[in-house]
Amino acid sequence: MSDCIFCKIANGEMGTEFVYEDETAVVFKDLNPKADIHWLVVPKTHVQDLNECSDELIGKLMAVVKKVTKENNVNSFRTVINTGKDAGQEVFHLHIHILSGHVNKSL
Ligand code: AMP
Ligand code: ZN
Repeated sequence: MSDCIFCKIANGEMGTEFVYEDETAVVFKDLNPKADIHWLVVPKTHVQDLNECSDELIGKLMAVVKKVTKENNVNSFRTVINTGKDAGQEVFHLHIHILSGHVNKSL
């Protein structure tokens, strides 16, 4: 989607540094971190939220969570997916938050 910030980031338009990238997803640092480590796992295809996400894609994204944390020796972490405005979703391109170290549980 042309006006979606996470589409722009995921296709490299913003010059964002990636913690991890594969054919399915990119992982990058949250702009406004709520923990010592706060990364976002973002699919390369535009999917609005978890309700719109296939079981296959969410499986791949969770595998990315496992891989990127393991590769960076992040053994203890929290994952958050906000789905819908009322739940606090602000960017309507599916993303999984990964938080570790002094985690703010209000996210
Ligand atoms: P949510 O409330 O689950 O939709 O989370 C959106 C998250 O995206 C927030 O934690 C924001 O800090 C983060 N965010 C918004 N714009 C950017 C950006 N350009 N780069 C990195 N993170 C962003
Ligand atoms: Zn998008």
